Amino acid sequence: MKNRKLLMIPGPIEVDPSVLRAMGEVTTSHVAPNFIESFGNSIELMRKIWLAPNGQPFIVAGSGTLAMDMAVSNLLEPGDNALVISTGYFGERYKNILATYGANVTVLQAEIGEIVSLDKIEEELSSKNYKLVTITHVDTSTGVLTDPKSVADIAKKYNTLTVLDGVCATAGENTPQEAWGIDVVLTGSQKAIGVPPGLALLVVSEKAMTVWKNRKTLVQNYYGSFTNWLPIMEAYEERRPSYFGTPPVNLIRALEVSLNLINTEGIEHRVESHLIYAKAFRKAIQKIGLQLVPKREEIAANTMSAIFYPEGIDGNQFRKDISEYGVILAGGLHSEIKTQYFRVGHMGAINKSDIVATLSAIEFALAKQNYSFTLGESIGTFLENL
Ligand SMILES: *Cc1c(COP(=O)(O)O)cnc(C)c1O
Repeated sequence: MKNRKLLMIPGPIEVDPSVLRAMGEVTTSHVAPNFIESFGNSIELMRKIWLAPNGQPFIVAGSGTLAMDMAVSNLLEPGDNALVISTGYFGERYKNILATYGANVTVLQAEIGEIVSLDKIEEELSSKNYKLVTITHVDTSTGVLTDPKSVADIAKKYNTLTVLDGVCATAGENTPQEAWGIDVVLTGSQKAIGVPPGLALLVVSEKAMTVWKNRKTLVQNYYGSFTNWLPIMEAYEERRPSYFGTPPVNLIRALEVSLNLINTEGIEHRVESHLIYAKAFRKAIQKIGLQLVPKREEIAANTMSAIFYPEGIDGNQFRKDISEYGVILAGGLHSEIKTQYFRVGHMGAINKSDIVATLSAIEFALAKQNYSFTLGESIGTFLENL
């Protein structure tokens, strides 16, 4: 019997077998010709997938949090004003990172399941000179989707840089970086990019690179400084070996394979599939009486869903039964509602059967606790809405 469980959490996600095989290839030298080619190719592919033909990609060993840390530590100088638009847990994290680098931080906090209104954002950005604004594209603790374009439009008016935490979104939510004028779009390898955890990935606009070049003070971050990494990215893109810190060769080879898969499918098609599956999944869940944490359909993420347990359901038992059935889902993350909801990741190279399997596991666990609904109804609704 197959004993591998289906991993449907908001990262790490199910990895394509070809990506896993790439991880298992012989480890080469970081200056071997085949690795130089993989690294250079990955950098070029990032520009395509980020839709940022003039952006500067960075691929550095670390998690998504390192990408968040690199973005702001390279752009900010002590005493600069920074605005955080927070829709949950990861907005709070950005506040803490910014404070570490001596920024003057203001947080605009949305209520749980909501976004921050554009009026409030404009009012704040016009009130003083902000160096940068951070946006969480999809906050993984609430499943709330923020529209980065409308925020970037306002930020441009006030000459404020935009930093998009796309860790739970990039390659799953629509993000034409250059067309929308977003200065940094960052992510981690283990979310919609579809690689095991371990890589911080960023694409930085020409404008933001100029701001970094013109800084008056040293970057207060040694490992994450662009000063150390830009020459490496430039060298490998020109297919020259270079060294600052040893790159994770197996992970970068796996990244190349996954980015190739996305690029061959086409980023527009990949994003569109996320939209179609997510919409049908939400309808399916709602059909059997479950409620989403996001308060409106327009602000519900397409890479993951945060779902309240129905009245009377024991959440721990529910997730345990789902796991025994063969699917792994995540519990709550937002401290204020932690025990009241669960999270499902539906991003990356997943297919319809993965979602059907997830819905059947949810139904199985609900039925086990005598929740009243018609068995099979969520699956039928999902199929009807595809
Ligand atoms: C997962 C996640 C992070 C943190 O990434 P790590 O790889 O765990 O460091 C940051 N922001 C968002 C929106 C995330 O979903």
